[in-house]
Order: sequence, then C-alpha cells, then structure tokens
Amino acid sequence: MRNDMIALEKTHAREGLWQVTAPVPEIGPDDVLIRVHKTGICGTDIHIWNWDAWAEQTVPTPLITGHEFAGEIVEIGSNVDGLVLGQRCSGEGHLIGKTSRQSRAGKFHLDPATRGIGVNEQGAFAQYLRLPAFNVVPLPDEISDDIGAILDPLGNAVHTALSFDLIGEDVLITGAGPIGIMAAAVARHVGARHVVITDVNPDRLRLAGEVADVVPVNVAEQDLAEVIASLGMQQGFDVGLEMSGNQAALDQMVEAMTMGGRIAMLGIPPGQSPVDWSRIVFKAITIKGVYGREIFETWYKMIAMLQNGLDVSRVITHRFAVADFEAGFATMRSGSSGKVVLDWT
Ligand code: NAD
Ligand code: ZN
Repeated sequence: MRNDMIALEKTHAREGLWQVTAPVPEIGPDDVLIRVHKTGICGTDIHIWNWDAWAEQTVPTPLITGHEFAGEIVEIGSNVDGLVLGQRCSGEGHLIGKTSRQSRAGKFHLDPATRGIGVNEQGAFAQYLRLPAFNVVPLPDEISDDIGAILDPLGNAVHTALSFDLIGEDVLITGAGPIGIMAAAVARHVGARHVVITDVNPDRLRLAGEVADVVPVNVAEQDLAEVIASLGMQQGFDVGLEMSGNQAALDQMVEAMTMGGRIAMLGIPPGQSPVDWSRIVFKAITIKGVYGREIFETWYKMIAMLQNGLDVSRVITHRFAVADFEAGFATMRSGSSGKVVLDWT
C-alpha cells in the first residue's frame, strides 16, 4: 500500500515552496500513477516560488507544483490500454479537453480549456503523479531520466524552432536561457546555416557555446549589425526565434530580419510590450505565437532527433537531491544556470 508521499507544495500565498507529506493521488479509470524519478525546475516554477502577480492570479493554494518530470508507471486505470507497469515515461503537462473544435480537429495544443499540472492542477514535484494515460509519453531506453525530465522545455524549443523551415537559413535567437540554447541546438541539428544567439548575460552565452555550435553575441557589448557583416550575410536573418520575453530583444530582432522574414515568439513579455508595427508591415514579416508543445507531434519529433544525434545534455548544469530543493531553486533563481534537475529516487 502506498499511503503518503513527499511533495513540494505552494502551501502559503507568499514567496517560497514547502516540503510536505501528502496522500498519494488516487487514479481514475483513464489515468496512470507515475513514480517520479527526476524533475526539472522551470522558469514557471520560479514565478510560482516568487509569487509574482501572474502566480497570485493563476495558482490556487495549496498546490503541489512542478510539471517537468520523468518516472515510471506503477499503477494503471481500468480503461487504459497499451501501457504497462514499469514503463519509463515522461508526459505532456497540459491537460486538454476533448470537446472543443480544435481538439476534435486533432489540434490538441490549441484547446482553449487547457489546464496545466503544477499550475492549475496537482503537479509533479512529488514522489507520485497522477496523469491521464492520454498524456503519457513512453521513453525509449536510450533517453535517460535526466533528459526525460527536460522534454517539456525541449519541446517548447522544438515547437518554436520547427515553426518555420530552417534548412539553409540564417537564424537569430534572442535569449540564451535554457530554452533558447536548446532551440539553437535544434536549429543547428536540422540544418540552419548561421545560428546567432543573443543575451546580455555572459554565463548564459558561454553555456550556449558549450551546448551548441552557435555564434553567441552579447548585445550589451557587441553590435549585431557587425556580427551580421562578419558572417558574410548579405541581408538580415531569415528566421527569428524570440526566447527572452524582453522588449528590447524583440525590437532588435525585427530590425535584424530580412524582408519577408519569419518570427516565432515563445518569450512572454512581463506586461504590455509596445511594438512598432509599421516596421513589421514594411518588412512583410510573419509572426507566430507559440504556446506549449504540439500534442504529440513535437514529442515525436524531439524523441526522434534525440535518437539521431541531437545532444542537449550539457544544458543540465546542476543536479540536487530533493532534500536540497532550496539550493536547487536558489541556483535557478540566480539566472545564470542551465537546467536544474531534482532527484526523487
Ligand atoms: P530565461 O528567463 O531563463 O531566459 C531568458 C534570457 O533572455 C535570459 O538569459 C536573459 O538574460 C535574456 N535576455 C534578457 N534581455 C535580453 C536582451 N535584450 N537580448 C537578448 N537576451 C536577453 O527563460 P527560459 O526558461 O529559457 O524561457 C524563455 C522564454 O520563454 C521566457 O520568456 C519564458 O517565459 C517563455 N516560455 C514560454 C512558453 C510558452 O509556452 N510560450 C513556455 C516556456 C517558457
Ligand atoms: Zn516548464
């Protein structure tokens, strides 16, 4: 019998997370129970830790947080076919409805009723996680639990990077956070010509250069126009991936794009973010907003790329036992780490 488990909970409506003992979730007929092995700390978890305005409006208390995980299936609901006990897995943390027009068209990632584990529903920072079987993504043997625990943000990177054809294109990525760095590795893997990644944080740019064969540019010190010229690019960038959520970065990206360029925006500006639309019109730029991962095409593509040589392992810079979660969060909150992984085993 499983009775109680350890979890990290947003218990109080203020800064911090608290280690608690909670009942192991009971599963319904369409769910599985997952024993969590590893979890990733996400920027979203930092917003929840900090209890900023977004978190206060969005997250109920008490709530077990966390949504990036890898583990194994230890219990299977009576209606579930095709999964077995002991199956190693990760999973999609967006819980979707099945009745909207979008879902019925198979565009599950566009379902307007999406709810997130660890944000709206009980999450993965726990020894056990209940998840609809629909959301489970089995892990092939060659994908470790560490990588399994960061497939959610890798999926953000893959979804954004594969929004536009990158083969032979010059790609600008603004923001060398973990997701921007992984997007750079993906752009390189699928055959972009030049991949330039910008940031204002030298630690992050150094990490970008270690993870992927890219051109890191510190825009606080270097002129992007000079970098473009030094690469021998005749015009601006063909494709932009905005991954900073920073207004100045988006402005700089629009400026650096070629006529007819395409921008995929994953970064979330903190508030309203004024845009010079006339520049976008006169440059005939296409902009696509990107939310989450395509369910499940992004998962298929990223696992396939990991199996054929995409290597993002060095983006994990720190590992902590869950007992040391406070140190893990402090590392992530410093803003200079890559991914931080917590060990629940
Ligand atoms: P992060 O905060 O770790 O990284 C953002 C980086 O942008 C930082 O390294 C920061 O120094 C850099 N930056 C700041 N100003 C800049 C500038 N002027 N030029 C270039 N870079 C600059 O974030 P992350 O976890 O890698 O996520 C990337 C973005 O994607 C965030 O905005 C996050 O909120 C967003 N996000 C969106 C989704 C979605 O579904 N749309 C999902 C996950 C994350
Ligand atoms: Zn995440």
